[in-house]
Amino acid sequence: MRWSQSLIPTMKEVPADAEIPSHQLMLRAGLIRQLMAGAYTYLPLGWRSVQKAAQIIREEMEAAGAVELHMPALQPIELFDRTGRNEAFGSVLVRLDVTRGDRKVHLALGPTHEEVITDLISRHINSYRQLPLTLYQIQTKFRNEERPRFGVLRTSEFLMKDAYSFASTLEQLNDSYDAMYAAYCRIFQRCGLKYIPVEAESGPIGGDASHEFMIPAENGEDRIVYCESSGYAANLERAETGRKTPDLTGSNSSAAMEKVHTPNAGSIEAVCKFLKCSPEQMIKTLIYLADEKPVAVLLRGDHDANEGKIRRALGVKSIELADEKTIQSVTNAGIGFAGPVGIKCDLIADHDVPLITDAIAGANETDQHYKNVNLGRDYKLETTYDLRDACEGDPCPKSGEPMKFVHGIEVGHVFKLGTKYSESLGAEFLNEHEKREPIIMGCYGIGVNRIVAGLAETCHDENGLLWPISIAPYEVLIIPLKTDDEDLMNVAEKMYADLKEKGVDVLFDDRPARPGVKFKDADLIGIPFRIVIGGKGLQEGIAEVKARTAEDPEKIPLDQTVEYVAKQVAEAKSKLNS
Ligand code: ATP
Ligand code: MG
Repeated sequence: MRWSQSLIPTMKEVPADAEIPSHQLMLRAGLIRQLMAGAYTYLPLGWRSVQKAAQIIREEMEAAGAVELHMPALQPIELFDRTGRNEAFGSVLVRLDVTRGDRKVHLALGPTHEEVITDLISRHINSYRQLPLTLYQIQTKFRNEERPRFGVLRTSEFLMKDAYSFASTLEQLNDSYDAMYAAYCRIFQRCGLKYIPVEAESGPIGGDASHEFMIPAENGEDRIVYCESSGYAANLERAETGRKTPDLTGSNSSAAMEKVHTPNAGSIEAVCKFLKCSPEQMIKTLIYLADEKPVAVLLRGDHDANEGKIRRALGVKSIELADEKTIQSVTNAGIGFAGPVGIKCDLIADHDVPLITDAIAGANETDQHYKNVNLGRDYKLETTYDLRDACEGDPCPKSGEPMKFVHGIEVGHVFKLGTKYSESLGAEFLNEHEKREPIIMGCYGIGVNRIVAGLAETCHDENGLLWPISIAPYEVLIIPLKTDDEDLMNVAEKMYADLKEKGVDVLFDDRPARPGVKFKDADLIGIPFRIVIGGKGLQEGIAEVKARTAEDPEKIPLDQTVEYVAKQVAEAKSKLNS
């Protein structure tokens, strides 16, 4: 491609509204332009990178036995009513009412395609003999994200590779899941992306049923908890604290429990300020409705409740924080004064709670707290649970070593769905004994744009992007320094033609611009190899070849340059593929 014929609007200045490096660099390198919040145009360079990522995904999906199809973005809302996701998606689902003749038609723009594909499968699969089957597509998804931000990392319209597996047995499901997991590892490796597969919320199948693929990045919105010595890695929702149930016989403290007046101090922060204590000394008592029944959850004051863990510990379907009336009825007090002593509902506690001696806790009386609350004497527990988010330094559940935190960008997700969709949409098969069973499903997503944005976020230096060869919009950039020198241009043109002939992706900077401008742009757009042909070099019979990551160029005889560069490109590619 000739630069003059493409649309590559590079920018010198850092755009004011772009907060993070990938957003700044993708704008500056002329990869994307914003249309409105959450919606971007991919310019020619950006689109080439997206297409390269998509191609790698296709190749690895096919190699893993998945078959491509293409489903509509426009979907009948009725399908979402049947799975309960019309309500569950809330304002994230883009709903449209259109008029057809004298009818109103209720539609949605697909946020994913579980409904559409399960409906399709329900019509065409009816025997165990037709299973297993994995289908995928690469298609635009729509989500009215609350906060679209960080350029194309979170947009309301984005490209997803979504795959769905259909199985007649759990064993088949596990095989498809493992095949997808392995394909994801190859995809991200080939894209040159650093990634960590982390355990994520398990959903209906339980156990090891969901993994997210995270790109470790300072600006990532997700938090990953990991242990260097065991390799354990999980997202914050899922990560276990590795704490064990402590001795529950009670504390030996002889300090008498004492009621203290704490006017208007209904939060941990306010009580700490008022009583000059630290949150670690406090018992936080949260009242939840667990399947409609009130239950008090005890945590150490500085810890955050993890609702997934609480739900599982209680063995209930749903939990939500209780309303004021419920709180009144179990504590006899307003919000903020609940505590374990004398509370009128069931109680469960996190492992760290019994370890607090002489704790401060709500007195179940408005504006009152207790000091010196101790297990055994003042409240009782039969057991304790892991009910909170893990903290940096908590012991790893596998090795016991202190765990670390990093931020990450979720680029992919593999999930054992089970039969949620097949049951609600009637996708069943006849088993060997002619009995009907719901098909067991898995779903597997990759954010195609996030591969590109994630690379921009993690592969750059102060001058611009550093693309891995597989995703770079072009592999080689040819820069003739004097476009008005006919001899020089003839040599450059021939090199351009010869490299293309060899199957190399070449961008030819034919702009009549100053060398300084061309070099700056070259660094900014980050093409992995560049060939510079100047007047002096021409006299000496050499071109200057430089990898984007190398300090200095190499002088290569003009008649060997094409061979040399083609070989470098091939080597860089095979490194990523191995
Ligand atoms: P997130 O937690 O980041 O909102 P998600 O868990 O809702 O993502 P999934 O439903 O698992 O996302 O979608 C599969 C993949 O699609 C994600 O792993 C991510 O790479 C990508 N993706 C999801 N939402 C967006 C978005 N708004 N913009 C760009 N890519 C997205
Ligand atoms: Mg996800």
